[in-house]
Amino acid sequence: MDTKPENFIQQIIRTDLEEGRVHRVVTRFPPEPNGYLHIGHAKSICLNFGLAEQFGGACNLRFDDTNPEKEEDAYVRAIEADVRWLGFQWDGAVRFASDYFGRLYEWARYLVEQDKAYVCELSAEQTREYRGTLTEPGRDSPYRDRPAAESLDLLEQMRRGEIEEGRMVLRAKIDMSAPNMNLRDPVLYRVKRVPHHRTGDEWNIYPSYDFAHGQEDAIEGVTHSICTLEFEDHRPLYDWFIDNLPVPSRPRQYEFGRLNLNYTVTSKRRLKRLVDENHVDGWDDPRMPTLSGLRRRGVTPAAIRNFCDSLAVAKTDGTVDMAQFEHFIREDLNTSAHRAMCVLDPLPVELVNVPEGQVETLRAPNHPQRQELGHRELPFSRHIYIDRGDFSEDTSLSRKKFKRLVLGEWVRLRAAYVIRALDVVRGDGGEPVKVIAEIVPGTVGENPPEDIRPRGVIHWVSADDCLDCEIRLYDRLFKTPSPGAGDSDFLEAINPDSLKVLTGCKAEAGLRAGDPAHHFQFEREGYFYADSRHSTADKPVFNQTIGLRETWTQ
Ligand code: ATP
Ligand code: MG
Repeated sequence: MDTKPENFIQQIIRTDLEEGRVHRVVTRFPPEPNGYLHIGHAKSICLNFGLAEQFGGACNLRFDDTNPEKEEDAYVRAIEADVRWLGFQWDGAVRFASDYFGRLYEWARYLVEQDKAYVCELSAEQTREYRGTLTEPGRDSPYRDRPAAESLDLLEQMRRGEIEEGRMVLRAKIDMSAPNMNLRDPVLYRVKRVPHHRTGDEWNIYPSYDFAHGQEDAIEGVTHSICTLEFEDHRPLYDWFIDNLPVPSRPRQYEFGRLNLNYTVTSKRRLKRLVDENHVDGWDDPRMPTLSGLRRRGVTPAAIRNFCDSLAVAKTDGTVDMAQFEHFIREDLNTSAHRAMCVLDPLPVELVNVPEGQVETLRAPNHPQRQELGHRELPFSRHIYIDRGDFSEDTSLSRKKFKRLVLGEWVRLRAAYVIRALDVVRGDGGEPVKVIAEIVPGTVGENPPEDIRPRGVIHWVSADDCLDCEIRLYDRLFKTPSPGAGDSDFLEAINPDSLKVLTGCKAEAGLRAGDPAHHFQFEREGYFYADSRHSTADKPVFNQTIGLRETWTQ
């Protein structure tokens, strides 16, 4: 049971339903197809789809495709895939602002006919001058009172592509001295003689966000149009259009605080720069806070949903600590990920009392607490690998500090025998290249005799039967909590060591590297997920999703 108190939007909806103002809740998620979705969008998706689900209503997916220069079909498809992956299904068909261009144009003409809009020929600079400032009222454009018939004729010429870009705009006639600058005769249509990814060459003018958004909501019967705080000042304009147009329904806009995460950026413009300037390997680079990057990294949709549900839906913007997100990533993987062993920095160990060629099959649970996930088989033989960091020749190391293998002492191999290190084979530089050891017979699943005290438990793989793989370890993409704060360029804060590639790692032979459903906990190392772009059956590549515990410090 969810015992969280209701947020202010849930309360508004509940009251609207109870008091009969609304009969069925309709929300929408309205991305602009000019980039990939990021973790901030996930908050909006979870909120909009979650409200529809909670109150038995519907949520639309609508592309706000009113800026043809920046928009692409490829983004549309990626966004659809991301929303589905997160676990949500929109109501009916995907919708597009461009589906309504005809109707919006008719409504623009309607406003002109009602003496509520006009074609203005001030230059961009003059428009700025006439607009006034926060402390000074604006001045009326000299074109404000031109006859409606003249505006209609010019608007038609704009639409047909007979007017150059920047020469004219269509503006609403509201109030040039309104304290809210958004009401100082805002622009409804601009000339843009560029093809659109869906409507092709049909239009040479495109509606502004303000003129499009509320009307799209009204066409779709959206009851609660939820957006982020930067649109708060636009709400009077949103309402003005709804009040002054013959729209089929009355949507209302509500604003909530956007999600910002420290140590990363949640702005499509910045993410696009990272991609375009090759700081990362595409929108789905595992270091990116995009949904596709998080997916490739191995973050689960459940972790993202749980994280979003934990966030306050409030009327203030805030920055959430990355550690909070990481908590939910670990929490979900801890329950869902299968355990496996992988040696990142292999050091050969020869077990001299295991006969050459003998293979014993040991069993280990896939999950220590979840029997139902079954077992896996581990071949055990004379030659194994352990991690270089799990061996030391320094016998003075305290048992508390170093719970691993020390020359002359014992350690337990996970799900296998207790072993003792007897000797070291050295390379030319004197460094250990192999450990000579022996097993303590009868210690699989059994305690050794009392005089044998293993220092701890370490992971291992059979050297005769293992999977060679590449491991990619990630650190945060930025070195500072607020990249780009103040006047700095956010790119200066990039962490040059955010990716570390390890080759020649050795994993359990039975690992099903290609199965996208498989998230692994490599024991003692962290959570890993096969890379969807570069991993193959012959050469598996695993991305580290996250470490086992919070180890990262500033
Ligand atoms: P960006 O600033 O990254 O370019 P945007 O707001 O321009 O984002 P849209 O595609 O217009 O991106 O956003 C679609 C929806 O997602 C909007 O309703 C927007 O308010 C919401 N949204 C975008 N970023 C965030 C965020 N960081 N937190 C919460 N909601 C967000
Ligand atoms: Mg936007």
